[in-house]
Amino acid sequence: MNSNPNCIFCRIVLGEAPAAIVHDDAQCMAFMDVMPQSSGHVLVIPKKHAETIYDVDADEAAMLIRQTHRIASAIRKAIQPGGLMIAQYNGALAGQTVGHIHFHLIPRYAGVDLKGHAAVLARPGDLAVLRERILAALPG
Ligand code: AMP
Ligand code: ZN
Repeated sequence: MNSNPNCIFCRIVLGEAPAAIVHDDAQCMAFMDVMPQSSGHVLVIPKKHAETIYDVDADEAAMLIRQTHRIASAIRKAIQPGGLMIAQYNGALAGQTVGHIHFHLIPRYAGVDLKGHAAVLARPGDLAVLRERILAALPG
């Protein structure tokens, strides 16, 4: 498995850094964003280190969107937000701050503005509660 020792998401994959994990299989992981833009913000990543959409093949891209789709449904069931944004940034100019490809799932709530991108650390207890709710809503 391609891994980059300087990459925070690779460290999460290896279990060297903490995360509130909602999905973990041979190819893919999903966890709560530690600086969520809204309550329930989840990231979906490949386990293999790849920087951007240009660095994964079509099968890997399809695998990521398949899991993103699956977790989107679980977020809807668990949290019932008014809406859900899905985003994926490539390159610093596009707003990418972590150089390991990921899809953002960002719930939206009526009358609630988004927090800044990678701006405010969540309370670990809050992430743990959301993780449990999403896990319970995922099909087995
Ligand atoms: P991007 O700017 O698209 O690269 O997004 C990176 C995202 O990763 C931001 O939303 C950060 O809040 C989030 N993030 C950074 N470090 C961690 C971490 N250790 N665990 C979970 N999320 C993280
Ligand atoms: Zn990585």
